Amino acid sequence: MKPSIDTQLIHTGEPKPRIGGAVSMPIFQSAMFEDGDDELRYIRYNNTPNQQVLGKKLAALEGAEAALVTGSGMAAISTALLTVLKPGDHLLAQSSLYGGTHSFVTHLLPELGIEVDFIDADAPETWEALLRPATRAVYVESITNPLMEVCNLDAITAFAQARGLASLIDNTFATPVNYRPPERGFDLSLHSATKYLNGHSDIVAGVIIGRGDLVKRARKKLKHFGGSLDPHACFLLHRGLKTLALRVRHQNESALRLARFLAAHPAVNTVNYPGLDSHPQHARARSLFEGFGGMLSLEVQGGQDGAERFMNHLTVPILAPSLGGVESLATRPAVSSHADMTPEERQQMGITDGLIRISVGIESSVDLIADFEQALAALEHVAL
Ligand SMILES: *Cc1c(COP(=O)(O)O)cnc(C)c1O
Repeated sequence: MKPSIDTQLIHTGEPKPRIGGAVSMPIFQSAMFEDGDDELRYIRYNNTPNQQVLGKKLAALEGAEAALVTGSGMAAISTALLTVLKPGDHLLAQSSLYGGTHSFVTHLLPELGIEVDFIDADAPETWEALLRPATRAVYVESITNPLMEVCNLDAITAFAQARGLASLIDNTFATPVNYRPPERGFDLSLHSATKYLNGHSDIVAGVIIGRGDLVKRARKKLKHFGGSLDPHACFLLHRGLKTLALRVRHQNESALRLARFLAAHPAVNTVNYPGLDSHPQHARARSLFEGFGGMLSLEVQGGQDGAERFMNHLTVPILAPSLGGVESLATRPAVSSHADMTPEERQQMGITDGLIRISVGIESSVDLIADFEQALAALEHVAL
């Protein structure tokens, strides 16, 4: 019987026999290794002990053949895309991508002679028309930022398989606890391990998980690009990973409670969370995911002013960008993740200046809700 993810997080991939009997994987702080194996070992070659142990564990977590750690989420994404695409190729990508990825596919890929078309990932009937003889891959995210949309992921893999395209997904928001893309037919699953996988907001790292042949090719590319994860960061990621299931399940529960509280509050206009019945893709999220994740976004009364006033009254969440750590965070995408876009582009995507994104941490949900309640009350006082 395959062990559950909770057990895999602790035991899978760990060296046997234990190195020097060490219960915790030691840090091999060595750039190169003595000749001996058939392959030269070097940190940039991504084949040192700390990197390899993580690769084995991460592959098992998503039920995949192989995995590779990288120096950042963007290193994983750019390396993976340049593994499946070459000059003259064409990519279909979901329209609402993470800012760094959006910028990479709209600016860097065309410089390399790779063309991109954006798809409405929720409208499978529109994809065929964008297909070209040179189309090689399709790229989506499991839950989009900051509106928390869940596209038709099963339709994406079916389409990719029928048309011989590589299917890639950024699974950062869902995490392997809630969704395992390789088990659902995706060729490559990518993560910013900076977020939930590490979970402690203290390193930048990335992961490529998926088909053995593609991960092997990605490893070769990464060797050229040089975006390797160093042994000490590997150690921190390894340590953080062990509590992934505990953290994410707490965050799933806490975010759902907070979302329900906010949706019922008179000073809140909108709440975007896939776990709410009112979410347009709630039924799909329920069938695809084991939990709805720790990310939500909301709009309060008073637009941008209201949002700023509300955020300044929050005492538990830290006002900071990024996500997926143990501490709750609040940020306004218009001035953080989506600041590079024009107001028109943001408006087109449905991102208002008053939209607030919350990354729910592992604090008590009672304290978190009480804190949101007092910050919303401060908002109501001003409105009177
Ligand atoms: C943060 C993030 C990235 C980029 O990851 P880095 O580790 O900052 O390079 C990519 N995708 C998503 C969904 C993210 O949240």
